[in-house]
Amino acid sequence: MQMLSLIEKKRDGGALSASELEWMIRRYCAGEIPDYQMSALLMAAYFRGMTKRETLDLTMAMLESGEQLDLSPISGVKGDKHSTGGVGDKTSLVLCPMVASLGLRMAKMSGRGLGFTGGTLDKLESIPGFRSDLSLRAFYDNVERVGMAICAQTEGIDPADKKLYALRDVTGTVAVRGLIVSSIMSKKLAAGADAIVLDVKAGSGSFCGTQEEAEALAKEMVEVGQGAGRSMAAIVTDMEEPLGNAVGNALEVREAVSALRGEKHGELTQLCLTLGARLLKAAGLYDSEDSARAALQESIDSGKALCKLADCIEAQGGDPRVIEKNDLLPVAPVRRLLLAEEYGYVNSIKADGIGRVCTALGGGRLEKDDALDLSVGIVLHKKVGDPVSPGEPIAEIHASAEEKAEQALRAVRACYGFSEREPERNPFIRSVVC
Ligand code: URA
Repeated sequence: MQMLSLIEKKRDGGALSASELEWMIRRYCAGEIPDYQMSALLMAAYFRGMTKRETLDLTMAMLESGEQLDLSPISGVKGDKHSTGGVGDKTSLVLCPMVASLGLRMAKMSGRGLGFTGGTLDKLESIPGFRSDLSLRAFYDNVERVGMAICAQTEGIDPADKKLYALRDVTGTVAVRGLIVSSIMSKKLAAGADAIVLDVKAGSGSFCGTQEEAEALAKEMVEVGQGAGRSMAAIVTDMEEPLGNAVGNALEVREAVSALRGEKHGELTQLCLTLGARLLKAAGLYDSEDSARAALQESIDSGKALCKLADCIEAQGGDPRVIEKNDLLPVAPVRRLLLAEEYGYVNSIKADGIGRVCTALGGGRLEKDDALDLSVGIVLHKKVGDPVSPGEPIAEIHASAEEKAEQALRAVRACYGFSEREPERNPFIRSVVC
């Protein structure tokens, strides 16, 4: 086999076979195919697209490029969740303890934030002492003993994706559905869960601008997961405005704890109940989504879900008292309110813009190794559809210094759009794919 003939085949609209894709990934990981040839192939895939068969075969080839976790010695059904990422997305912190409190073993490997979206590990690391760099043994032990663990992906998982993603990033070839599906699903399959729920975001704060693209992506990820023998569930949710009220690491942990306490958090709670019910049903632990949803609500009302989060924090070296005393989390020294100037309604809040303000405050990364200020961020007091009157607080900036707070105030104001009439709102859960 020759890489040149594979490039030509793809360039001319052909579909690569399983053995061609497997050969290509193996040789690329061994350093025997140069980046310039792989770039040409990626660009051909960009213009020609990929068949569903190619996507599944590429996923399996990437999966086999590295370590695959064997969770079978752990008792019970193992679950996992993936979100395509967004702004203010603290769902894992709420969902994992909810479903784990009902007997699903959550074995979750998460990532860090980059660009305007946040990462679950950064949020958790704002809890004093919390460690996300668990050894595999500790990860397995915690899933068995506590019922859940959230840690960083091990180095050995999916080396093909590490090389390919870095190349796609610098060759304008990230936005190819088949490549996105194989990148995400090869990592998820390698993490070993039996049942996986996907939260695919649509809107300005996500990489899928349109509903159609998000749905197509979700469907293909489900097909690949099922093709690999896993139970799958997926929904498409709105990411036009940030999720919930808090954006910023420690601020999001506070919001997650408050949601687990049963305090009112409309869309965040709704999302976690829907994802949780679909996951528990896919895992075979409940016969219907309605009974799973009722059990999840009960686990919040009884405090079981919150206790599960405390157990997980303690098992990973963190201080579980943050559940009761949230001033143990880092607190920013400067807080400034953004006030409404006129009567009206909030018409839009640019999710990507708010994410960028958080990054500029020091709460996110521009480069992979940037250090974070875990205390800073933005709390949105008004969301789309809320009425406002002059002098009312719209948002609050948490910053490390006055000057940064001033800049953030101006930038957050520019992210808000207002209208005289109450705006029409899309449903937050845009569609249930599976
Ligand atoms: N996230 C991934 O892990 N891979 C992609 O290709 C896009 C988003």
